[in-house]
Amino acid sequence: MPGFELFGDNEKKHVEEVLDTGVLMRYGFDGMRNNQWKALALEKALCSRMQVKHAQLVSSGTAALTVALASAGVGAGDEVIMPTFTFVASFESILAIGAVPILVDVDDTLTLAPTAVEKAITEKTKVVMPVHMCGSMANLSALKAICNNHNLLLLEDACQAIGGSYEGKPLGSYGDLGCFSFDYVKTITCGEGGAVITNNETYYSNADHYSDHGHDHVGSDRGAETHPFLGYNYRISELHAAVGLAQIERLDDFLGIQQKNYTILRNALATIPEVTFRRVPEGGVESYAFLNFFMPDETTAKKTHTALGKAGVDACFYWFDNNWHYYRKWEHLTQLKSLGNLSQEVRNQLQDYTKADFSASDHWVGRNISCLIKLSWSTEEIHERAAKMAEIIRENL
Ligand SMILES: *Cc1c(COP(=O)(O)O)cnc(C)c1O
Repeated sequence: MPGFELFGDNEKKHVEEVLDTGVLMRYGFDGMRNNQWKALALEKALCSRMQVKHAQLVSSGTAALTVALASAGVGAGDEVIMPTFTFVASFESILAIGAVPILVDVDDTLTLAPTAVEKAITEKTKVVMPVHMCGSMANLSALKAICNNHNLLLLEDACQAIGGSYEGKPLGSYGDLGCFSFDYVKTITCGEGGAVITNNETYYSNADHYSDHGHDHVGSDRGAETHPFLGYNYRISELHAAVGLAQIERLDDFLGIQQKNYTILRNALATIPEVTFRRVPEGGVESYAFLNFFMPDETTAKKTHTALGKAGVDACFYWFDNNWHYYRKWEHLTQLKSLGNLSQEVRNQLQDYTKADFSASDHWVGRNISCLIKLSWSTEEIHERAAKMAEIIRENL
């Protein structure tokens, strides 16, 4: 992560091809566009790389989650199970369609704990939304079994783990629907952008229409198209798609670099007996976007994280205290600080999370330090960083 570190001539070339035609919109203007269809080409590349039948590009990862939920018919009052450790986009997308976020504990995979998911299911539950945080995945086969038993949808948020796999399948392609973000700091970027992938024809067709005001995309006259149902505008522009097209061509190179850098760091930290690593479910291959490790307790983790920062080891995160990625700082959600009224369903059904017991999540996230794996580190830099990290960790034990 982040793909912008290695921008080059290919990104420029694709963007220039769009600017040369002047057609910045992904739909229409067939005569003017000189056969440049960057969004379409990127969707095709995503289908091929992710081994799925359909991909719908949208304007962000948050939009992708929203469109995925809407496309599967999720709406007001439906409950969506999501983890306590994730980015705020998880509950933003759920609330955007009037559905209710149900927060559930994570385990030592740092993703949804299947046993906790099972306990949270009610008759209103519609979706289980695992978030493959920091480059590694939830136990998808356990979650799939739960979903099958209870007739629920499995929606994978693979925004932070693009390129990882589970049981040989690319992350995002295992569930009923999968989502990616191509925002500026993700492994591959469009500047801003996102995608929904699925093998389900209906969800795809719904996503295609819903993300463009409900346009049915039949014929070649936009104004004459009909609108079978209500939609919204979550379109991506050709300029953004052009950058993404250049980046996806390099995804496997990026993953190789991530794995190489991750391995050097991990080997250095593995020499410290007190340090343990985040569990990767059997059958899973990480994207190596982050290295996640556990310190023996919360106090040591906090102290070590501060010491790393002071020593100039950047890009290490202590998510437990982070404003955006852990439930403890989501008072805008727990206190329902919305600008206008939220729907009655959300107000009635949202649990009082100020009183919730997420000590099982705290046990893991409180001890976790996450190190972003950069693409631009030189071999020398990464070895230096590995030695420095190991030294600081030892000093703080
Ligand atoms: C980045 C991210 C998103 C949202 O993506 P945007 O493109 O920034 O809207 C959603 N989920 C996770 C886990 C993310 O990391």
